[in-house]
Amino acid sequence: MLKDMSDENTFEFKLLGTGTSTGVPTISCNCSTCISKDPKDKRLRCSALITYKNKNIIIDTGPDFRQQFLNYGINHLDAVVYTHHHFDHIGGVDDIRGINFTSKKGLPIYLNSETLNNLSRIFSYAFRDYNETGGGIPMVDVNIISEGDFYVEGLKITILPLLHGSLEVLGFRIGNIAYCTDTNYIPDSTLELMQDLDVLILDGLRPKLHRTHFNIEQAIVQANNINAKQTFLTHIAHQVKHSEVENTLPEGINLAYDGLTITGKLL
Ligand SMILES: [Zn+2]
Ligand SMILES: [Zn+2]
Ligand SMILES: [Zn+2]
Repeated sequence: MLKDMSDENTFEFKLLGTGTSTGVPTISCNCSTCISKDPKDKRLRCSALITYKNKNIIIDTGPDFRQQFLNYGINHLDAVVYTHHHFDHIGGVDDIRGINFTSKKGLPIYLNSETLNNLSRIFSYAFRDYNETGGGIPMVDVNIISEGDFYVEGLKITILPLLHGSLEVLGFRIGNIAYCTDTNYIPDSTLELMQDLDVLILDGLRPKLHRTHFNIEQAIVQANNINAKQTFLTHIAHQVKHSEVENTLPEGINLAYDGLTITGKLL
């Protein structure tokens, strides 16, 4: 656990959600996972919080963004980094207003141009000139990223280009941790950026094959290839009951769960 949050070389990485796009439980489903009492079978939509020198940077603002803020007692936000524009990763954009009310300025967001184009379309009201629009509109300051490294609040983040079906999405590496949700193909050039990882968080949707996500078997092959000391599977569907599937995974590979917190090291 991280003791000194001001340590220059460490950061905290907390998974705020590890569920697939519907969340788990899935509404109206009565399967054994959806009715399970195990807290590890309760999965909000995928998001992660990075805390570095008391600055909070969130990866994705999905439909559970507000609830995740409340659940984990997060009291401020300094930036958002987006993986891609699917609704389970952006649905909470309107709740950025709450951040704006306190900070009285636009929230810096970092995203590729494809994600921006889609955000501007889906949340068109938020991307007008907000200087004259009062408090009803989420205010964001756009920073376009595409490849290589970028810095947020002094923290170096390396972009990990991935494919999610035919959509190019972004994974991120911060120090010894990589976060790759929503993918079913990792290009060789990205694998080169994933050497010597201590922790890999990787899409591992469910046992059955899927067109745009690694299933668990494929995720294990990738994890073995990347060879991080520890891999956690995320974006998990309700076909995965934590207590049943966790025991079937190889050593060094586990299911992620909401609230999982890792101390990262900068290199
Ligand atoms: Zn997703
Ligand atoms: Zn279910
Ligand atoms: Zn997606």
